[in-house]
Amino acid sequence: MLPGKDRIILCPSCQNQFRQSTLASGNTLGATYWTDGKCETPMLPDSVIVSYCEECDNFFWVEDAELIDKVEFDSGKYPDAELLKELTLEQYIEALEKLEVKDDEDALYLLRQIWWNYNDYYRNDDQEEISKDIEEHMPALLEKLLDALNDNNDEHLILKGELFRELGEFEKALEQLNKITDPEYDEVKKYIIDLAEQGISELKELKI
Ligand SMILES: [Zn+2]
Repeated sequence: MLPGKDRIILCPSCQNQFRQSTLASGNTLGATYWTDGKCETPMLPDSVIVSYCEECDNFFWVEDAELIDKVEFDSGKYPDAELLKELTLEQYIEALEKLEVKDDEDALYLLRQIWWNYNDYYRNDDQEEISKDIEEHMPALLEKLLDALNDNNDEHLILKGELFRELGEFEKALEQLNKITDPEYDEVKKYIIDLAEQGISELKELKI
């Protein structure tokens, strides 16, 4: 994994400076795939799509932040620029309320991040750390995610089937998964159907 140049960007609301790391090269070695569609790639970190500015207490889409410079990753320029960070689960939930979404894709992105970040507790075997507050919020948020997923899109149907399975709604899971026609999804579809038929609701590593 080779670092690329750092992007120096401005918070769209208050012009606070951020430093965004980039990669010159990365790869998917050691990738772990999960039934919820998340793929963890240690040698290829996800780029930050949404971030938060403490200076003005605003969430923002990174693509809306003005790029003012690109500097070597080890350059001492812009010492006051904050490192651009990904949101926490709590922040994603807050961002869903406060951040302007341009279209359904944006809303779906935030909802999917909420689901994946919640599932991260299970991925990392940290489920005892989930706060009561989060547990109370999750059912309504997952319901919103189900509503945001489109029944005419096979990629969405996989996510929908998996989410129903995780919620223990196995009949509904099978109904969604059986609508998928694209052969590209055959293996993952079968993997999740097998789990649903066995009445297993746990998040699983996808081994296909
Ligand atoms: Zn700001």
